[in-house]
Amino acid sequence: MSDSRALAIEYLKQQRLLGGDSVILPRASGLGAGASGTTAPAPSPSPESQTSSPQAPAPSPGISFDPPSADLFANDPIQRAASVEDIATLIAACRKCKLCEARTNTVPGEGPATARLVVIGEGPGRTEDETGRPFVGRAGELLTKILEAIKLPRDQVYICNIVKCRPPENRLPQYDEIAACLPFLYRQLELVKPKVILAMGGTAAQSLLSTKQSLGSLRNQVHRFRGIPVVVTYHPAALLRNPNWKRPTWDDVRIAARLLDS
Ligand code: URA
Repeated sequence: MSDSRALAIEYLKQQRLLGGDSVILPRASGLGAGASGTTAPAPSPSPESQTSSPQAPAPSPGISFDPPSADLFANDPIQRAASVEDIATLIAACRKCKLCEARTNTVPGEGPATARLVVIGEGPGRTEDETGRPFVGRAGELLTKILEAIKLPRDQVYICNIVKCRPPENRLPQYDEIAACLPFLYRQLELVKPKVILAMGGTAAQSLLSTKQSLGSLRNQVHRFRGIPVVVTYHPAALLRNPNWKRPTWDDVRIAARLLDS
């Protein structure tokens, strides 16, 4: 074999190893011819080349990416919910966490879908579980008074919770329960589009803002959830136990009122 032929063969082998395109040589080319000048027999086709046309580039092995043709969330029922009533229907049928097992009623939230203020609590208590309505026990009575103090009748406010079913014995909602329930809250906020959110208590504040910071360090300032101003304050049930927190709560609620008026 001549040096130039050996070099050419070596070069083509390297190209092939590096993933280069296949080279189709004319049958009678010098490279394909034997030393005697007769035409070399055509190589038998590989299994892959039997199914593809000789001109088509060999399929390159490795990563393939098939882009989705439609919106990734188009089939998510929560994303498709067009109203807060639709969300309430989905919540009523929800069995995504263990809180569904002991509930009497789901408590999706209530208030006008056009409310400028959304109040978020932790989760239903006994009275809420019995009635299916948020903040109707003693803590709810105090919340109604707090709202009246900033000249907001309760029926103009959308009131809901982080979890929509009562945790047994009023224990704190657990991480998996919060994670299962948050998509309902996110969609409620997307639909109501409030001007301001008031998060009451550590569970509401930390879950909404995805933080582990203490309530004390989160209150008395303005945060954002997807661009919406969020004010954090004490939970009304905590105020019933600790009246000293009424003053700081009043300061926080006035921040929310000023944002509503701005
Ligand atoms: N506590 C809450 O966090 N939410 C309610 O609905 C009632 C009490």
